[in-house]
Amino acid sequence: MKVAVWWSAGVTSAIAAHLAIKKYGAENVDIWFFETGAHHKDNERFIRECEQWYGKHISIVQNRLYKNPIDVMTKLNYIKSAYYAPCTDVLKKEMRLYVEEHYSYDHQIFGFEFGDIKELNRAIRFKEQNAYTNPLFPLIDEKISKPQALWILENSAQIKRPMMYQLGFSNNNCKMCPKGGFAYFNLCRKLFKPFFDATAKLERIVGYTCATTKLYSITPKFLFKYVRKAKNIKPFPKRGVEKSVWISAKLLPRPKRERLKGRKKVWLDELDPNRGRNMKPITAECGVICATEFTEFIDERAEKLLSGQMKMEDIW
Ligand code: SF4
Repeated sequence: MKVAVWWSAGVTSAIAAHLAIKKYGAENVDIWFFETGAHHKDNERFIRECEQWYGKHISIVQNRLYKNPIDVMTKLNYIKSAYYAPCTDVLKKEMRLYVEEHYSYDHQIFGFEFGDIKELNRAIRFKEQNAYTNPLFPLIDEKISKPQALWILENSAQIKRPMMYQLGFSNNNCKMCPKGGFAYFNLCRKLFKPFFDATAKLERIVGYTCATTKLYSITPKFLFKYVRKAKNIKPFPKRGVEKSVWISAKLLPRPKRERLKGRKKVWLDELDPNRGRNMKPITAECGVICATEFTEFIDERAEKLLSGQMKMEDIW
């Protein structure tokens, strides 16, 4: 039995590798890490210490066509979309496919955590769409959440968490990942100014921003309520509601009408340094499963996994 672990230098995949070695033996486990060219330097220390803990070498692979995520975005003239980032695709997913082509494994191990419904949902979607990988999710099977994984790492293995977590980031992603939010970007501006500036410059060239304001619902039902409240008028008769609502929306004062239009771009070089001040610097998890579909729709089985009514092995 030969298994591959996709190791991201995050705490959850670090524990997934440990569990895989315990179950299958070090000689049957290959650990792969994809270097993106923009990871924090402390990853070298983390890799070294984890190798000592596992008693096993971690293989590092890098896509030599691109120096780092900014290089990918520049060459492809594409920053990201709501559910896709070209840098994840090129620097991680393509590298996974490269390894799959050259090595044969009975199972692939992923570090999805237990406790977060979105993570459970991603695991379900990935398993359904990539059954050929025979994926295993040891943290979900063992019901280990990210905080618990962190505890195991620091207390049981005595390995300090990677520097990105110590700096306040939620994941050990690249410096200045385009998947962040306002608080994240402002922290990056403070800590990784050259990366921040390069991304801000790139935004202007590509004409697309990493950050946007929240999406406001513009369904007729929402407009109906909104207009009624704003103009303090009685409900419209049921028929012809849509038309009346749109007409009334046009009569609203300008700033309110702006809000009804949906997302607005926020350029990094215009980002208010105080924006997101009271929020956590969150980034979306980045991994080797880029472009898995329907991850934004929560499958009802994710709830069952969370409540213990189902196991990952029941998902096909
Ligand atoms: S962590 Fe962010 S910047 Fe790095 S490859 Fe993933 S999406 Fe791109």
